[in-house]
Amino acid sequence: MSGVHLLSKEELNPFRIAQEQLDAASEVMKLDHAAHAMLREPMRILQVSIPVRMDDGTVEVFTGFRVQHNDARGPTKGGIRYHPQETLDTVKALSMWMTWKCSVADLPYGGAKGGIICDPKKLSKRELEQLSRGYIRAIGRFIGPEKDIPAPDVYTDPQIMAWMMDEYSKIVGYNAPGVITGKPVEIGGSLGRGDATAMGGMFNIREAAKYLKLDLRKAKVAVQGFGNAGYYAAYLVSNMLGSKVVAVSDSKAGIYNPDGLNAEEVMKHKSQTGSVDGFKGSEKISNEQLLQLDVDILIPAAIENQLRKDNADKVKAKLVAELANGPTTPDADSILHEKGVFIIPDFLCNSGGVTVSYFEWVQNVSGYYWSEEEVNERLDSKMTKAFSDVLKTYEQFNKKIHMRTVANIISIRKVEVAMKLRGWV
Ligand code: GLU
Repeated sequence: MSGVHLLSKEELNPFRIAQEQLDAASEVMKLDHAAHAMLREPMRILQVSIPVRMDDGTVEVFTGFRVQHNDARGPTKGGIRYHPQETLDTVKALSMWMTWKCSVADLPYGGAKGGIICDPKKLSKRELEQLSRGYIRAIGRFIGPEKDIPAPDVYTDPQIMAWMMDEYSKIVGYNAPGVITGKPVEIGGSLGRGDATAMGGMFNIREAAKYLKLDLRKAKVAVQGFGNAGYYAAYLVSNMLGSKVVAVSDSKAGIYNPDGLNAEEVMKHKSQTGSVDGFKGSEKISNEQLLQLDVDILIPAAIENQLRKDNADKVKAKLVAELANGPTTPDADSILHEKGVFIIPDFLCNSGGVTVSYFEWVQNVSGYYWSEEEVNERLDSKMTKAFSDVLKTYEQFNKKIHMRTVANIISIRKVEVAMKLRGWV
């Protein structure tokens, strides 16, 4: 992968990309200078060192970040990633994308993101707990239910959220479930949060398919990534929308079967062997090959910079539904748009996760809990409205501007209005 990146000679720093996307939208909407300047950089950045006593008795010091991009629309919100290649610039980009995501889904939040440079696969459960608690002690004064509310993201899960919520509650001296979302249901999590990112994506795909006149029951789908979003996407796209998943992948390999793959069985195989690789009846393919398969719908659900200048013209899908954050570079956006590929941009397509996080937080602060049905119904109406707002504007621009820029214009405008009302700009 890194070789490909070097060859592509494209800007692949996610923060530069996020700024480029903002600049492009700002130009079209003629955003005023002060609002643009406010949004081009995060409002607050915190870097912390987290000492952890490892199982062998030595102490290792980890670096963590929490970035709050903009809180004009409400407390900031966004996940925490554990990744060996985490960088401050990645977290800054992701925090900006969270601002757009909360705004386009019309949640009363701004955007934030956190990250720790670590390889969670190499940590024992005890070390992981110490690291997670240490991170919360380090950023404790920076977050809070009315200030900044973290959640899971790449390689973090409900158990980690439980430790973090517990540590924060110890610091403040009372039970504070509203400080973090994506918790286990038993301690204040919301029903429907587990598959919410993928579920929100399904509602978006359903609406896009109506618009594109794509018969979902005949559609072939490839899913890149088999984490929380990718697994549930593969499961739901077949079980809820009736499409056929012909390929999935994880960081190690991809698998292909033209007759279809059963997501639950692939997950069983992955839990036993550590990868989707070698799943019975499937052919091994690379992540790069997966992106270029002859399918109707491509769902990138892994990490940033997967569709780039050097491979975007090889995409055969009609619809790209981005469940990952930042999977497509600006050059790839233009190439895909010219080819007539319809993109549901990440901060719209994957906003189901943070939307149900918002529902979780509402339930936490009100102390009244909803059924899974209520959660999914409310998620459906939020996603359908967000998608149709973006689509309407896309058509107003005569489809000349791609969906990401259109969605960005809508979200930036709402943040701009909030900043103006507050008298910031
Ligand atoms: N990490 C998820 C995202 O990127 C969810 C964020 C949240 O629930 O706050 O949207």
